[in-house]
Amino acid sequence: MGRSAFILDTGKTRVMLDYGIKIEPDHVEYPLEFQGMIDAAILSHAHLDHSGYIPHLFSELTTTVYMTPPTLELSKLLWEDSMKVAKLRGDEPPFTREDLREAVRRTLTFHYYQPFMVSDEVSVEFTDAGHIPGAAIVRMETDEGTVVYTGDFKIEPMRLHSGADLSGVECDILIIESTYANREHPPRHELERKFVERIREILDNGGKVVIPVFALGRAQEMIDLLTAHNIGYPIYFDGMGKKATKIILRYPDYISNYHRLKKASKRVIWVRNQQQREEITESPAVIVTTAGMVQGGPVIHYLLRLKDDPKSAVLFTGYQTEDSPGRKLLEKGILEVEGVEYPVRMQREYYDFSAHAGRSDLFKLVEKADPEFVVTVHADPENVELFAREIEERFGIRTVAPQNGEIVHIDL
Ligand SMILES: [Zn+2]
Repeated sequence: MGRSAFILDTGKTRVMLDYGIKIEPDHVEYPLEFQGMIDAAILSHAHLDHSGYIPHLFSELTTTVYMTPPTLELSKLLWEDSMKVAKLRGDEPPFTREDLREAVRRTLTFHYYQPFMVSDEVSVEFTDAGHIPGAAIVRMETDEGTVVYTGDFKIEPMRLHSGADLSGVECDILIIESTYANREHPPRHELERKFVERIREILDNGGKVVIPVFALGRAQEMIDLLTAHNIGYPIYFDGMGKKATKIILRYPDYISNYHRLKKASKRVIWVRNQQQREEITESPAVIVTTAGMVQGGPVIHYLLRLKDDPKSAVLFTGYQTEDSPGRKLLEKGILEVEGVEYPVRMQREYYDFSAHAGRSDLFKLVEKADPEFVVTVHADPENVELFAREIEERFGIRTVAPQNGEIVHIDL
């Protein structure tokens, strides 16, 4: 798991696929350096582990970047935020303001199902990846054959998406994410029911519920879910998810139920200032706020206020990476803020609302793509390798699970 960045070289055209960073508590991991020029860069979706270093491209070269319109706006939001975060931590920013402006100027946006050429020989089409708004499965027709890059995808419907469209995934070479190749996710419906039941229980018992969320996708899923279930207590909405929601609501075609999200956004209470933040924790309520892995943002404020209250709970709804403050809080009950460790008496639970395909859906996509060759990427090394081996055994397809920096030659 980490940062995604690939270069597809057909012999005539070099296309970069994603260029991500991974933000750790004390440092940032950047993608590996690459040699030479590229003809185009394609961004599958706005998450920083795919988009985070795109502006840096423009510190050294000039190229065109292609993505969907919501991906551009959501990426801009995250790019600006990562500059702010770097500044707060006293780190070197990942790129300059000028790089960022240049990246936006050099971006061409295309909607799903709107084919476009990135060179004389490579034509590209985006289809819905069902992951977050704007996320695309990237289909590339080249003289050498058809390549599909899944980015991150999910087939099972969520509240915001009706699931990835697999109608265009048939290809010669498939580059597929492998995040959950080793396990299934619980069925959504049941998970939602359990989650909401638990929230009601905590609130009825006089506790408060803090839900740390990622700004893109998960924040909107949560306000949609909570308002749809009529929790009966105030639901507060804080952090960067608010801005992301405003952007997403400008693209009704990129979510499955615009009206429901619009309604949800009106029913939750948007937290606007520090005074409001102080008052919120006084009586039972649900607080949906960034950051999803407790790396910063208003969630810290709420947790510091509620940490000694055993009636209150923090409910995680997204994966917590190994070294994240969220993982430490979830597993060890320790909240770390600016180097200080606080023991936490709040209840802590995790609900798997993942926006990635689970194991059987990953295989389903491979089967549908029916490729000559599969490249498994974007998971822990052992998972990527195991998934590749299993594809070979099950379908008799040639595979490779490349290491970071590895160059793979594929002859069809
Ligand atoms: Zn993603």
